[in-house]
Amino acid sequence: MKRTLYLKLLLGYVAFGILGFITIATFTSHHSMNYIETKAAENLYRESNLIASNYATSYYRQTKTLEDVQSQISAIATYLNADVWVVDTKGKILIDSASTTPSDTPIKDFDITSFGTKYYLVGDFYNLYSEDVLTVFSPITINYKVQGYVLIHQPVAQLTSFNNGILNISYMTLAIIFLCAFVVLGLFTYTVYIPIRKITEAAKEYATGDFSKQINIHKNDEIGYLAASLNFMATELSTLEEDQRKFIANVSHDFRSPLTSIKGYIEAIMDGTIPYEMQDKYLNIILFETERLNKLTQGMLELNKYGKKGTMLDISRFDINNTIKMVVQSFEGTCTQKKISFELILTGQTLFVSADMSKIQQVLYNLIDNAIKFSHADSSITIETTEKNEKVFVSVKDTGIGIPKDSIKKIWERFYKTDLSRGKDKKGTGLGLAIVKEIISAHNENINVISTEGVGTEFIFTLPLAEEKNE
Ligand code: ATP
Ligand code: MG
Repeated sequence: MKRTLYLKLLLGYVAFGILGFITIATFTSHHSMNYIETKAAENLYRESNLIASNYATSYYRQTKTLEDVQSQISAIATYLNADVWVVDTKGKILIDSASTTPSDTPIKDFDITSFGTKYYLVGDFYNLYSEDVLTVFSPITINYKVQGYVLIHQPVAQLTSFNNGILNISYMTLAIIFLCAFVVLGLFTYTVYIPIRKITEAAKEYATGDFSKQINIHKNDEIGYLAASLNFMATELSTLEEDQRKFIANVSHDFRSPLTSIKGYIEAIMDGTIPYEMQDKYLNIILFETERLNKLTQGMLELNKYGKKGTMLDISRFDINNTIKMVVQSFEGTCTQKKISFELILTGQTLFVSADMSKIQQVLYNLIDNAIKFSHADSSITIETTEKNEKVFVSVKDTGIGIPKDSIKKIWERFYKTDLSRGKDKKGTGLGLAIVKEIISAHNENINVISTEGVGTEFIFTLPLAEEKNE
């Protein structure tokens, strides 16, 4: 499973806990014990020095009785929770804080040099103790001569229990840190891991071609931004896919219907269903359908050209008023048939624009073609040019069937035809306005439509005004 990120985090978290525990058990424990030992030894050493210079000396000088010194030393030993001995240079115990009758035999192998340069030792002190003790010593010097030593033994167990107390505090601190880290881990899970998992799951579905899933993360950080970008990408891809599906469905449909009727009529002619004298009529229908197929193919080829980025435009400076007149003229035949008249309201004698002339001719042709197709007989079509803010506005307005409100947005789509127009115009491919849109967009200009069903339609597009020519 691809849950490795979280697993790594959890492992890291556990490793952090274990390492922390090991560190306290080894490093901290060792160093704190050393510290406690040194500090305890320093304290005991101070005490042993005091005893050596005061009580022990007064015992040697016999300014105090053995009992007095014994009782004072015992008091100190009780206070220190330790054994205090006064021994002579041979190792014979003269005073023992724990006993009023110390043994006569000297400590076996007693040798003060075994302390080395240190003033304390840790061990069982010549096998005299069953457990480890911390022993410090101070020499008793009278007249510059060492007379004996004061030895203080404190059980190491005391120090160890003190150290354990400190270690317990350390473990507790570690546990609190561990808990805090758990809270941080939870926060991380909530703010980073769960969103990333959501994004990964969505991305997986996108990879299989399903763009319906939206990532539900609304945050103001990099992850939120990533999710928003992916959502945008998915929406774009899904509409692209939807468009493509629709496009293919439309193309197939528009090609199939004329082909089916052509095939049907040809078969009928061949097998004699259609008698010889009727054949002309059906051949004409076949011709009409082939023309429609031809127009369809041409339209698609045209659109394909614009579909690519950076359409090559052959920009030139030309008079749009004149171009309009020329295009209108080419429709004269159809218009007299349908009794449709043109009203041209053109600004100025000439009005120069800079654009691709042949493409703009096609735009005008497609718009006027529609206006005528969807107008009633005995009506008039108005074409107007105006100039405003370095732009030329061209309007083609009719008083025809109009476009239903909910179709307005769709008329620019390839193959789209409103239900109103279907009955009126069987030859239309629904590509005309798609081509118009592509041409105007290629010029970086705009086209708009205003229409009311049953009242009429107006298309307005802009073109850049050409600069005055200095002749
Ligand atoms: P073609 O232009 O390929 O002959 P078409 O005219 O049907 O086919 P478009 O020019 O793209 O296709 O127009 C698309 C649709 O928009 C038309 O079928 C029609 O329903 C609607 N339409 C366009 N112009 C007008 C108009 N002036 N009045 C009413 N409806 C219109
Ligand atoms: Mg058209």
